[in-house]
Amino acid sequence: MTTIDSVRQLPKVDELLREPRLENALRLMGHVPVREAIRTTLDKAREGLLAGHSDEPITEESIIFSILKQLDQETKTKIRKVINATGAILHTNLGRAPLAEQALDAVMDSSRGYSSLEYDLEHGRRGQRGASTEELLCRLFNAEAATVVNNNAAAVMLALSSICRGREVIVSRGELVEIGGKFRVPEIMEESGAKLREVGTTNRTRISDYERAVNESTAAFLKVHRSNFRMSGFVEEVDECDLAALAHQHAIPLIYDLGSGCISQDLAKLLPEEPTVSQAVACGAEVICFSGDKLLGGPQAGIIIGKKEYVERCRAHPLMRAFRCDKMTLSALQATLTLYLDPEMARQHIPLLRMALVDTGALFKRSEQVKDILNARGIKATVTSSDMIIGGGSAPEVRIPSWALTLVPENGTSSTLQSIEAALRAYDPPIICRTVNDSLLFDLRTVSQGEEQILIEALCAILGEGDKRL
Ligand SMILES: *Cc1c(COP(=O)(O)O)cnc(C)c1O
Repeated sequence: MTTIDSVRQLPKVDELLREPRLENALRLMGHVPVREAIRTTLDKAREGLLAGHSDEPITEESIIFSILKQLDQETKTKIRKVINATGAILHTNLGRAPLAEQALDAVMDSSRGYSSLEYDLEHGRRGQRGASTEELLCRLFNAEAATVVNNNAAAVMLALSSICRGREVIVSRGELVEIGGKFRVPEIMEESGAKLREVGTTNRTRISDYERAVNESTAAFLKVHRSNFRMSGFVEEVDECDLAALAHQHAIPLIYDLGSGCISQDLAKLLPEEPTVSQAVACGAEVICFSGDKLLGGPQAGIIIGKKEYVERCRAHPLMRAFRCDKMTLSALQATLTLYLDPEMARQHIPLLRMALVDTGALFKRSEQVKDILNARGIKATVTSSDMIIGGGSAPEVRIPSWALTLVPENGTSSTLQSIEAALRAYDPPIICRTVNDSLLFDLRTVSQGEEQILIEALCAILGEGDKRL
């Protein structure tokens, strides 16, 4: 291959655009991005020649290689499908809850063309956005009213702004929590224009603390579920039903930030510390906020249910316009909630429930089968005991015994481990696993049957014949 040693010998942009090896990229991405990649690569080559760098000889081959590499990099950094082999069912960095087929179909159906998003088909006039989803929420939870926004942080913010602005909200010091992603109760409170009135101590808050703090400027009590941590030892907190009762005595609402929003009774049995939405409603909380993409297993959304008077105030607030959901979210949420009308449908079709409720014995068997396949192909794997991880800041203390496929590199240096982990991440589709001490853990709970084969092929390709890392 001839080395290009002068700027004048560099290929021209138009010549490169006719290069057969760039044809595929041109077809997939169009002219503009390919031309840009060609320009940047040529600019760099020109600079290299002028500066007299001689470490990497420039050839036409190396230029085409750089262009393809840059285009490939652009594709790789886009949001794309990954295989989650970490076992964390609600992995925050991997998009939380995967959607049910029915939810995906609903998104396609309402978004490919036009939809009745804000149209009343019966009367042929403008309708209310999300009305059918709200009716479904009321029906499922026996609530007076409901509304939906983009996420639970927005739901809490909206509830505080529309119900408590300029007045006091009483919160236990044990619930001034940070949920991650900058959701901090005191800061949300400040942004909403409500005044935070702290009561109790970090570890103990009693009903009398709330009672003493109530005054004519009190707008509400706020209860926040400690989603992502637990307190133990010398602790005391006020039960939400008792707090709701005290709120009623003083004719103020209880706003309850439930966090995850567990709906499924089966899931609730598994996660006894997670309050269910129905429990919160039964206690009489006036305003209940929870996420759509945590334990509900739907799209990212924030759901507000409760007494009509307060939900109406949320709906009428100017922030509602900024927080309202689009048709894709509402369609996916509606389809997911529809599945909850029948618990068996929910169990079968909502991926989050399917993964969380999978039979541990069956998971062990599946892991053993994959282990056998890998062993037969010369890769030493074992199945070891591990814990199920809910993730997404939900149920942090829950320890449900589970199984994981485990690989221990023989010359177990951490760099070997890291290089395998990185190779899996660079695979197409990328595979995300866990490294624990000197081993790689693959939890098949979050790997679908279809993905299982890809995982096997990836491991064989990375660790296969001739590679002595394992
Ligand atoms: C997760 C969580 C939030 C934030 O919900 P998003 O849907 O992520 O915005 C707020 N409060 C609690 C208690 C949570 O657990």
